[in-house]
Amino acid sequence: MRHTKVKDLLNSVSTLQEVNAKGWVRTFRNNQFIALNDGSTINNIQCVVDFENTSDELLKRITTGAAVSVTGALVESKGAGQKYEIQVSTLEILGDSDPEKFPMQPKKHSLEFLRENAHLRVRTNAFGAIMRVRSVLSFAVHSYFQEKGFVYVNTPIITGSDAEGAGEMFKVTALPFDKTPRTEDGKVNYKEDFFGKETNLTVSGQLEGETFAMALGQIYTFGPTFRAENSNTSRHLAEFWMIEPEVAFNDLEDNMDLAEDFIQYVIKYALEKCSEDLKFLEGRLLEEEKSKPQAERSEMALLEKLDFVLKNNFKRVSYTEAIDILRDCTPNKKKKFNYIINEWGADLQSEHERYLVEKHFKCPVILFDYPANIKAFYMRLNDNTEPGKETVRAMDILFPGIGEIVGGSQREERFEVLVKKMKALGIDQEELWWYLDTRKFGSAVHSGFGLGFERLVLFVTGMTNIRDVIPFPRTPGSAEF
Ligand code: ATP
Ligand code: MN
Repeated sequence: MRHTKVKDLLNSVSTLQEVNAKGWVRTFRNNQFIALNDGSTINNIQCVVDFENTSDELLKRITTGAAVSVTGALVESKGAGQKYEIQVSTLEILGDSDPEKFPMQPKKHSLEFLRENAHLRVRTNAFGAIMRVRSVLSFAVHSYFQEKGFVYVNTPIITGSDAEGAGEMFKVTALPFDKTPRTEDGKVNYKEDFFGKETNLTVSGQLEGETFAMALGQIYTFGPTFRAENSNTSRHLAEFWMIEPEVAFNDLEDNMDLAEDFIQYVIKYALEKCSEDLKFLEGRLLEEEKSKPQAERSEMALLEKLDFVLKNNFKRVSYTEAIDILRDCTPNKKKKFNYIINEWGADLQSEHERYLVEKHFKCPVILFDYPANIKAFYMRLNDNTEPGKETVRAMDILFPGIGEIVGGSQREERFEVLVKKMKALGIDQEELWWYLDTRKFGSAVHSGFGLGFERLVLFVTGMTNIRDVIPFPRTPGSAEF
């Protein structure tokens, strides 16, 4: 007999004479009630064991974490909280789980402990829910872009360019470390390496993505990216997934509209498809915040917060306006910020971003038109800016509790302006010859952005550490599993 998923059993339209379920024991109470979970839903199905007619030896093997197969009638449950339960007639242990040794006991574990057991934490309610929401969100990403006719592009993971400048890179090499070939002046001779040149793991697919947008019109990437920065924060991973749409003929306004519409779509999608998981995660967050002082607790519960993002436009604020707000705000005047904002031109730190979003505007914020010299070379220089106060058509989207979730821009489409900028920054034109070709042949206005997928999952699940929304996190000093 084929087994039926727990989710389908719980949603059955009627009682059934005989069903089979397979899953893992969450708890076993009173030698009688198994809470069985198979990952198809946050909910367990209760399986009632006829303990009087079951051997002690078998009963002892029904332990938390064991894999079991149960067969019996699906009957209406007398207990509270579930419509159906299984009246077990046959129980088979598929895989034992030693209760002395199984780390995921039915009690509260710290998130740190669970991270150390990332291969088993997914058997808990919270991590099951998070990973299902993550999966649904990634489907929503594809669904949004595919519905709109975007072409999905797989940009290379091993890249031959290091000019993007988005972050420190991991080198990819097949050279031996003990006998590294050297050039005459003592440098590593990459000509002898696998690719005949220096290569790295990608920090962004943007530059390659732009070339595709200039042929296919609207494209998106969704793949892993790598940054070797030593930023040990709750918002940074060394390996994370990025979504990068790029659209020909879009200006910065269009780019903001796209980002806002996209984020609202995927959140709505998750709310519709993951309501039970999100309700559970809302409860988890409330519980976690009980131990925090009132001032640090969220003003809204998780579902309310997600709904708020759907119903309200993101506030669009220029960098210059943001600086005025920050210069005059209380934490700046009272020197509560680590970095005091004095002048136009200052790079915003996450403390400033969070002040704007969480304290000042109290909603998602799109900051745009940043000073040219704190942003990347490929961003479109604004016309008519004063010398020394040049700005570029950049935008960052800031979210409450997260900070930057999106970074994007209108791209510099003018060949001469782009080349001048690259020269000023010492970026090798020869290496980016193919990128410059897009500006030589049929150049046009175009825009795009990068959204860190894990930061989106953080926001939607209400988790607070990025290590808890990716299956096996890679961070400085940590690559277990
Ligand atoms: P941050 O200032 O937060 O370090 P960034 O400006 O370096 O980010 P971008 O290069 O603009 O980031 O990358 C685009 C998006 O990718 C960011 O808005 C963010 O959502 C995500 N992102 C960037 N770095 C990381 C990282 N190390 N881990 C997870 N997500 C990241
Ligand atoms: Mn950025």
